[in-house]
Amino acid sequence: MGLFSKSINTLDDLFVHTLQDIYYAEQQIVKNLPTMIGKATDPELKKGLQKHLTETENQVKRLEKVFEMHGQSPKGTTCAAMDGILEEAEDIMGVAKDEEVTDAAIISSAQAVEHYEITRYGTLVAFAKELGRDDCAAVLQQTLDEEYAADKKLTAVAEARVNRKAA
Ligand code: ZN
Ligand code: FE
Ligand code: FE
Ligand code: FE
Repeated sequence: MGLFSKSINTLDDLFVHTLQDIYYAEQQIVKNLPTMIGKATDPELKKGLQKHLTETENQVKRLEKVFEMHGQSPKGTTCAAMDGILEEAEDIMGVAKDEEVTDAAIISSAQAVEHYEITRYGTLVAFAKELGRDDCAAVLQQTLDEEYAADKKLTAVAEARVNRKAA
């Protein structure tokens, strides 16, 4: 059974499991973003991460809404992938010494987080549609759009300044 506490037999079970996975992951992101914000030096990077922390808090609430729409009480299940991404982020921030290199490390870690989220929300939107739940899909799509925008913003900050300064 591994990571799965209960067997998954239907697409509906898999949808709920994936919701629980990203619900756990979003909560870990809320806990870890303040450390990244604290270590970031570039003002635009700091501001962007702060904005995304606020968005992430709202994404947790949005997931709670989807659980309820789906007749489930909100519950998380350990996401080993997000735990790993955040552990790597902590390690790399701990060893990067120079400020600009630390900013570049934060951006690359934050983008790993966004990319994982994009895969999960992309899948959730597709599953919701397949299950005939366009209402759930629409709510999840709002978060997917925010994750894409956050990723794009990180790329813009990196390309504009941070990578050049770190080189
Ligand atoms: Zn269901
Ligand atoms: Fe998120
Ligand atoms: Fe996961
Ligand atoms: Fe995000």
